[in-house]
Amino acid sequence: MSYENKFQNSIHKTNFKNLTKENQDFIKEKAFLYQFSFQELKQIIDFAIDFKMWHEDDISLVFKEEYASRKNAFNDIRKIWQNFKDKPNSYKKFTKDLYKDDVRKISFTSFEGDKAALGACPVASPNTRCCNLLTLDAVQSCGFDCSYCSIQSFYNQDKIGFDVNFKENLQNLRLDPNETYHIGTGQSSDSLMWGNKNGILDALFDFARQNPNVILEFKTKSNNIKYFLENDVPKNIICTWSLNTQTIIDNEEHLAASLEQRVTAALKLSNKNVLVGFHFHPIIQYENYISEYEEVYKKLIDTFDPSKVALISFGTLTFIKPVINKIRNRSFKSKILQMPMVDANGKQSYSLEVKEQMFKSAYDTFKPWHKDVYFYLCMEDESLWKKVFGYEYASNNQMEDMMKMSYMEKILQNRQS
Ligand code: SF4
Repeated sequence: MSYENKFQNSIHKTNFKNLTKENQDFIKEKAFLYQFSFQELKQIIDFAIDFKMWHEDDISLVFKEEYASRKNAFNDIRKIWQNFKDKPNSYKKFTKDLYKDDVRKISFTSFEGDKAALGACPVASPNTRCCNLLTLDAVQSCGFDCSYCSIQSFYNQDKIGFDVNFKENLQNLRLDPNETYHIGTGQSSDSLMWGNKNGILDALFDFARQNPNVILEFKTKSNNIKYFLENDVPKNIICTWSLNTQTIIDNEEHLAASLEQRVTAALKLSNKNVLVGFHFHPIIQYENYISEYEEVYKKLIDTFDPSKVALISFGTLTFIKPVINKIRNRSFKSKILQMPMVDANGKQSYSLEVKEQMFKSAYDTFKPWHKDVYFYLCMEDESLWKKVFGYEYASNNQMEDMMKMSYMEKILQNRQS
């Protein structure tokens, strides 16, 4: 079969359609010249998409005039791509202009759920040390669209789904009153960005009041706390913010609230005796990242009373193939895939050495809070616990129990205060 036919028959199995017309023509010309194998062609197309997404030189500029062989050509481009991934990222060339057209056109849909969408944390894995969080989907899909988010592989990004039976389904949820439950609402969407749209916060506050044995966690990147300021917040509700450096917020979470807005919102609720918490997940490696993150950690230590902070979690980028492909299917600027990836329990992530460095620097900076706040690694290799915290759990169930005990202790203290 001619190379032309092979090319036409297999190109649809690659991300060729996501290339610009210029890059399509360029890569087609080089493919015919060097007769790349299907796997080589597929990778070169992904390299081209990555170079554009990373705002680095275009594939047509990195390709040399001439190569002695197909292998030389492929290995050279692959080496350039790997070098970009191995060197710490720099956002120096990233400006707000790059995102000016990145406006979300979301639409709201409603559906009739037949029961409350309560289930196991969608990203939990038996191969990592996990807290067995239960997740409750109050809303489907998220309006913030952070570049690295795994939700994009679960839902259609532009359609935000509300269950018209949410309140009733929640009231019909039967839990064992002798059990303590840790339930989070921030996995399928942002917990606070929609406010009390369709009465979701009314329903969740009622649910918390009727189930004092439930630790209900709202996780957010927004500063939409109006409903929490205007209503009595049940004591078994914890509001947690996902925080990052402003560099990452500007470039990988740019539709979400700024660092200042998130910290200010958290402080307002903390001053109203609502238990708060902070998730540094993902911590992302880039030039000077350690010192920039330490500034954020110190800002929290200077701003909050640790007796009113229930938790601090650390985590980092962990990709499954569908999310990597979804990210490559989007034409936007991001450095999120420009990272040295290794296998991490079947997923792609930083090496254990890089993780130990980033998590240890984080935990060590929070030394003043070690005795007062519950710290944990989210979805990480169990071998990291001893290296970072000096202790480890024997099982996920043990982690779950210790976490719940710590949160419930804070809730009871808060009830008495
Ligand atoms: S540790 Fe993280 S990923 Fe694992 S169950 Fe808990 S929240 Fe989910």
